[in-house]
Amino acid sequence: MPNAVDQLFAVQSEISKAEAEANRSKGSVTLVAVSKTFDADAIRPVIAAGQRVFGENRVQEAQGKWPALRADFPDIELHLIGPLQSNKAEDAVALFDVIETIDREKIAATLSTEMRKQNRFPKLFVQVNTGSEPQKAGIEPKEAVAFVKRCRDVHGLVIEGLMCIPPADENPGPHFALLRKIAGAAGVEKLSMGMSGDYQIAIGFGATSVRVGSAIFGAR
Ligand SMILES: *Cc1c(COP(=O)(O)O)cnc(C)c1O
Repeated sequence: MPNAVDQLFAVQSEISKAEAEANRSKGSVTLVAVSKTFDADAIRPVIAAGQRVFGENRVQEAQGKWPALRADFPDIELHLIGPLQSNKAEDAVALFDVIETIDREKIAATLSTEMRKQNRFPKLFVQVNTGSEPQKAGIEPKEAVAFVKRCRDVHGLVIEGLMCIPPADENPGPHFALLRKIAGAAGVEKLSMGMSGDYQIAIGFGATSVRVGSAIFGAR
């Protein structure tokens, strides 16, 4: 059985190598360890090995395991990387430190209201559907700049960055390049892009965080 801690160290060293190859400073890329489907017992050794930033794609699943882990490790940073429904916005604002999947007007409005109500302000990313795939969440690329502006001007949200999931069967490079270009036009700094199969490539295209699950925890 491959061991998650050994695989964490391997991914960390791959990230350092990709940073160096892209002439980027060491530590400029944040590793978001994607722990979806893995239980607290599988996650705990990875936290003990020093990893503090984690990603989950379902609000309810995250609620089931993270409060207890957080009680032991208060400096955990938890990212929501899956689609968010309005009826889960209250729970998401209460639990997550970063919400990466804002992709429509209604969820922007709901989050804005919830954040003020709870006086809790997670960092926010807009998800862009760079491949315009009908089954995939995310704002259309051609609407993304205007949407980020509306998040700011209409809903009073601070958008820190953009996130994308390229189509599974395509070369991801052009999608990463597109996300970076849209971020420049929208005036946002952070780029959440790259997963187990392509995070080294994403770092070459300027990713500031990579979301890596199976390369650390194993197959789901
Ligand atoms: C599951 C998931 C990941 C991690 O995928 P791996 O291929 O296991 O690294 C990254 N981003 C999102 C949005 C995911 O849902």
